[in-house]
Parts: sequence; structure tokens; C-alpha cells
Amino acid sequence: MERELYQELILDHNRTPRNRRAIEHPDASAEGHNPLCGDEVTIYMDLEGDAIRDISFEGHGCAISTASASLMTEALRGLSISDALEIFERFHRMVTEEDASSDLGEPFEKLEAFAGVREFPARVKCATLAWHTMQAALQGKREATTE
Ligand code: ZN
Repeated sequence: MERELYQELILDHNRTPRNRRAIEHPDASAEGHNPLCGDEVTIYMDLEGDAIRDISFEGHGCAISTASASLMTEALRGLSISDALEIFERFHRMVTEEDASSDLGEPFEKLEAFAGVREFPARVKCATLAWHTMQAALQGKREATTE
């Protein structure tokens, strides 16, 4: 039923998540919860001025939430904070708005694997949990919830 959701890229990042580790003494971190599905994620970031020097995650959850956290950390490393928040906005539109563009452009094409999530509203929270948690960490909040 959800076959379109589980593209090869998502399966790959669920099987072998990238950047799944803690950062000691992170400059920013937050915990995110998605009670609807049971997904839990912690995001860690090392910042240098306005740049995200390192970003990683820990946690457990469904394939969508794990793959989303993994692909997000890959996409955001080295970006400025404002660019990271802007790509989150575009990603969020892509998975929630029927007529939004699913073309995120270079170098964010991999995130387009989640475009199919918009057909499955219950899974949108799985796909955006890591992103909401990243945003909460940058805002100095300790926790994020999809509720
Ligand atoms: Zn989930």
C-alpha cells in the first residue's frame, strides 16, 4: 500500500543511517517526539558562527523518520543556519502542499525522495520530525513535538 513511499534511497538510509552518533558538548541540540508513530530523535549540532559545522542524530523510529534524519544531516552539513531553515521551509511545503514543487534543486535532490509522503498525511510527521527538531535546537528549545 505504501510502496511508493519506500523508495530505494529511503530504504538505504534506513538500513545504513548516516551521521547516527552523538556530538559531545554540542552547541545546539534538541529531542523530538512523534507520538503518533512512536518516532524519537535527538539532533546535535556544532556551530561555527552562522555555519553548521557538524550535525548528527540519534534515535529510533520508522523507516521514514530514520531516513529523513539521515538525509537531513547529509544535506545540512556546512550550510549556514539561514540556508538550513530555508531548505526546511521548502521541504515542508513539498511534503504538505499538493501543488508545491518537488524540485528542490542542487544539491538537495536526494530530499525529493520524500515528495511521495504528501499522499500519506499520517507519515508527514515522520518525515518532518528531524527537521522540526533541528529548528527547535537552533531556537534554543530543548524539545520538539509534532503534536
Ligand atoms: Zn514514523
